[in-house]
Amino acid sequence: MSDNSEIETLNAICRKAKAEDKLSGNNLTELYELFGSRFTKALDALKENRVKKYIFKPSGKTVWIVVGRERDYLIMTVAEFCTCDDFYFRVLDKKVHMCYHLLTQKIAQNLGWFEIIEENDDSYDMLMNEWKKATP
Ligand SMILES: [Zn+2]
Repeated sequence: MSDNSEIETLNAICRKAKAEDKLSGNNLTELYELFGSRFTKALDALKENRVKKYIFKPSGKTVWIVVGRERDYLIMTVAEFCTCDDFYFRVLDKKVHMCYHLLTQKIAQNLGWFEIIEENDDSYDMLMNEWKKATP
């Protein structure tokens, strides 16, 4: 299976899930077959409400974060980039297309399963520096 079909299948499942406002049994099976343990981890993160959308005021800048076991992971939704080691070492190496954080964020965004946190623009640089640190 090519990398493209992985992301296209995920997008198609997300569209269906969004229309139905839930992940059906079939969706769950498909996602598990496609992503295996990455999907199990994503599901845990979703159940534990670990996806946060930060909205900075007054600029309206948004930042997506997946709260991990040891640190927070910054997700660049447009670039489909994540700050975790898994992403850095495997995705850049083309071994795995998506880390579980990206997978989690995509499902969360489509289904509205995330928490919104409002912050002042004054905190943006400080928080971004924290999130961009490459090591735990
Ligand atoms: Zn990641």
